[in-house]
Amino acid sequence: MNYIVCQEPGDFQLRQKVQPAAAAGEALLKIHRVGICGTDLHAYAGNQAFFSYPRILGHELSAEILEIGANDQGLAVGDKVIIMPYLSCGKCIACRNGKTNCCTNISVLGVHTDGGMQEVITLPVAVLMPAGKLSHDEIAIVEPLAIGAHALRRANLQAGETIVIVGCGPIGIGMMALAKIVGCTIVAMDTNDQRLAFVRDEIGVDYAVNVSKDPLDQVMKITDGDLATAVFDATGSRRALESGVDYMSHGGRYVLVGLSKGELTFTHPKIHAKETTLMCSRNATFDDFNWVKETLEGGGFPTDKFITHSVPYAEMIGDFDGWLKPETGVIKAVVRW
Ligand SMILES: [Zn+2]
Ligand SMILES: [Zn+2]
Repeated sequence: MNYIVCQEPGDFQLRQKVQPAAAAGEALLKIHRVGICGTDLHAYAGNQAFFSYPRILGHELSAEILEIGANDQGLAVGDKVIIMPYLSCGKCIACRNGKTNCCTNISVLGVHTDGGMQEVITLPVAVLMPAGKLSHDEIAIVEPLAIGAHALRRANLQAGETIVIVGCGPIGIGMMALAKIVGCTIVAMDTNDQRLAFVRDEIGVDYAVNVSKDPLDQVMKITDGDLATAVFDATGSRRALESGVDYMSHGGRYVLVGLSKGELTFTHPKIHAKETTLMCSRNATFDDFNWVKETLEGGGFPTDKFITHSVPYAEMIGDFDGWLKPETGVIKAVVRW
């Protein structure tokens, strides 16, 4: 069977190996789609922290069951499945408290262990979810949307809130779509006018603000001086992370979804006066995956417009460089297997 390995930064290779066999408690799966995300782009570019090569990338997966034993999820051969790509230990303090998303021993497919850029893969049945009527394209975007779902659930968002979401990449876009379903008024921010137009026209955010144009002033006007009761950073940019709290109201919460590499600095009196609740949001849980699945089933997300690029895997290596460039208009690229 064919697979693609990232041998070292900047070097993908298409190779062949023997198809694996499923061990007890595992299913044998045919991969249909692999979504490409920032993690994969960073791994390829060689600037992903704590990453070792060679590595088979791919954690945004859609698959079909080829072989499976008796299981509690009611899964059978031929079923399409959603894959939770975070393998958790089930024993650590986080797992014992139901927070498998931040397991102390977490192993993420395509990051810490080999992922889905292969024709066939074996995985523990415990990380599979029935995909019902979702298409393979929809299944492949459940994971990135679930990252946003988790961040929104962290903040316990309520209908009627006015919130700011900074960053109109795939994670931010997913958060905006879900926050709209919750019933929030959404202020989207980005530096890229094309992305801002996308979230205004396709997602229906209420305000699209370019951060180069006095964003604080604009949030003040939009909220009548109250500011936003919840602010989410989906950029991972240090400058954005440090200024996001400025858009937050007194008594609000600030949720960091994007990850930067170094230290962040906040002026204590400023965050103290607001009694800031500062939260980080990492990965997602089955509850988040379920929320996204229901949203997609209900037709509440423009999957066709979100997936801007789709290629068969044999063409991926030639096209991958282009997906590093925002000029290509890429939001989500998906590889077909
Ligand atoms: Zn991802
Ligand atoms: Zn654990």
